[in-house]
Amino acid sequence: CGIVGYIGHREAYPIIIKGLKRLEYRGYDSAGVMLYDGDSLKLSKTKGKVSDLEERAKQMTTNGTIGIGHTRWATHGVPNDINSHPHLSNSGNLAIIHNGIIENYEPLKKELIKRGYTFQSDTDTEVLVNLIEEVQKKENLKLGKAVQVALNQVVGAYAIAVFDKQNPDEIVAARLGSPLAIGVGEDEFFIASDASPFIEYTSNAVYLEDEEMAIVRLHKPLKIRKIKDDTLVDPYVQELQL
Ligand code: GLU
Repeated sequence: CGIVGYIGHREAYPIIIKGLKRLEYRGYDSAGVMLYDGDSLKLSKTKGKVSDLEERAKQMTTNGTIGIGHTRWATHGVPNDINSHPHLSNSGNLAIIHNGIIENYEPLKKELIKRGYTFQSDTDTEVLVNLIEEVQKKENLKLGKAVQVALNQVVGAYAIAVFDKQNPDEIVAARLGSPLAIGVGEDEFFIASDASPFIEYTSNAVYLEDEEMAIVRLHKPLKIRKIKDDTLVDPYVQELQL
């Protein structure tokens, strides 16, 4: 039930682990992390606590300045390693973390299976990441647009962060019904369920409103759009009290 993302110049892994621990109060049954090291996408996830994830992640290298991490409170599919987030799309290019529920995941899943998609987990979330991939492929869209088109087909509630290995200098985040804050640093961005994971790095925060999506891109200003009608929103940057 917690989200932490990082894109910038620091090592992402320690920021994500520490951040997930700060969000533990929200409750959860599993934890996972995806890191991108400039070359490959690395994934580690497990049922259990964030400390179990740290143990599990010892099996991989944890370097990389881009990453997303998640604590899951299972709604669709039992708490186990496979159902833990992040979830990858069929191509292996997209990684997603998600808090909330995709209520119409069943018809969407059926449609995707017809188009040849396969699923490893029992989650609604894995349906969403493959829907984004399908939209991206069919309409030849960049990640932000594909996420937007996919979310307009979704009924439910969500806070998500999505990463695309083919375009690895950005993370796309969106919210409807679950909180999401963006920490705006110097040449770095943080994404989290609340500001506690990034308050020690930056005091500038933008809280996403429902039905807004954020495109955080390295060396670019933060971009926020309305998911429904595509209008650009001027980011309202709040100064957090340290
Ligand atoms: N519905 C998703 C799942 O069951 C996300 C649950 C959550 O909010 O952590 O995997």
